[in-house]
Amino acid sequence: MIKPFYFILVLGCQMNKNDAERMETILQNAGWSRTENKEEADAIFIVTCSVRQTAEDRVYGLAHNFAKLRRKNPNLLIGITGCMAGRDTDGKIRQRLSFVNFFFPIHEMTKLPEWLKEKKQTVSEVKEDSGAYLKTPPKISENFRAFVSIQTGCNKFCSYCVVPYARGREKCRPVKDTMEEIRRLVDNGCLEVTLLGQAVNNYIAPDPENFSKDNPYKDHFAALIWEINQTDLKRLHYTAPYPNHMTDEVIDALALPVQVNYLHLPVQSGDNEVLRRMNRRHTREQYLEIVKKIKARVPDIALGTDIIVGFCGETEEQFERTLDLYRQCDFDISYHARYSQRSGTLAAKIFKDDVSKEEKKRRWRKIQNLMEETTLRKNQKFQDQIVEVLVDRSEAGVCWGTTNEMKTASFPGGPELVGKLVKMMVEKADVWVLFGKLN
Ligand code: SF4
Repeated sequence: MIKPFYFILVLGCQMNKNDAERMETILQNAGWSRTENKEEADAIFIVTCSVRQTAEDRVYGLAHNFAKLRRKNPNLLIGITGCMAGRDTDGKIRQRLSFVNFFFPIHEMTKLPEWLKEKKQTVSEVKEDSGAYLKTPPKISENFRAFVSIQTGCNKFCSYCVVPYARGREKCRPVKDTMEEIRRLVDNGCLEVTLLGQAVNNYIAPDPENFSKDNPYKDHFAALIWEINQTDLKRLHYTAPYPNHMTDEVIDALALPVQVNYLHLPVQSGDNEVLRRMNRRHTREQYLEIVKKIKARVPDIALGTDIIVGFCGETEEQFERTLDLYRQCDFDISYHARYSQRSGTLAAKIFKDDVSKEEKKRRWRKIQNLMEETTLRKNQKFQDQIVEVLVDRSEAGVCWGTTNEMKTASFPGGPELVGKLVKMMVEKADVWVLFGKLN
């Protein structure tokens, strides 16, 4: 019997990728098979991202292109989920996508088997997510590394961000479920886990009684990290922590053996007035103090961050303060976004998007240049050093992977090394890649 085929396109962040893996489990349990070829699909799903207007515009274009496939296959089903469906409280987005069959916030995915059987058009209302969908195990695509969501939603309401609207309030997963998933992954050969959450270190266990009696930490996130350190996992990474929740215990836990030597700690701006307008709950001084404590605990830790340039009302002096903070923190990597107004957010309602496109571009280039210089200098410290690499792919006789500092590494090697931890001697360090040979 030929099974019906689904095709999933995932846009945006790692949380979306992890959600798509859960959808795959649901679809496959319902008798559907994955295809990489959209032409032969019986159902196509887009897991959407709302972080920028360009990301949403892309979805409209993609959905229209997929709908054209109905000329050949009139029974083709199209589903839209992810942040666009989650944040569409006024129905404007679904109006523009009225030709799709299913339009639902991601946590409604458990209803898919029912909807697919009925084949009737379904628009699922935006309702508060209970977090129950996280019980569905993700369909793991690589057995050597995995994402594990421990939290969905966000209570922070940064004024520029759609996440609290798209994913609802913060919900944390029980320690028991999380640890069972991690132990299962490790038993199946998983070497690296990335814990996911929007303010991941604000993890509040619904079942703290399931922490071990000898767990030394009171802070639930630090306690969870400690529990994971008691398994045979080799590398643990998490994203994205919120500065205010880097408690002394969470900082202490950065030195536990399984923790990678990298922390991605979004700051967004180095100016207090801009941070206030962004509704970030930390100041520049508090952020710098946290970084100081982190470096005191793990002196050689690699740090990453996220920065928005050209936020409403940002002056040249305020932008310069961000550059200054960047230099003081000496980040290893940073991701820079030019501010893009998102409808429904507080910033869109009360502030003017008054920094011109050209100016945003100029500031982006300036901070990007600073990052590239800093990253190159920091990468060069690895010259002639031996680093450990988790190999994630091999193409044309060249292996690629990540080091313990989450830097991209590359060396000559074949597919038999994929999924292995190997030692590499660094022969050349550039901005984006450490090149070397197996040691
Ligand atoms: S912490 Fe702020 S930026 Fe991060 S998801 Fe929550 S609201 Fe958005």
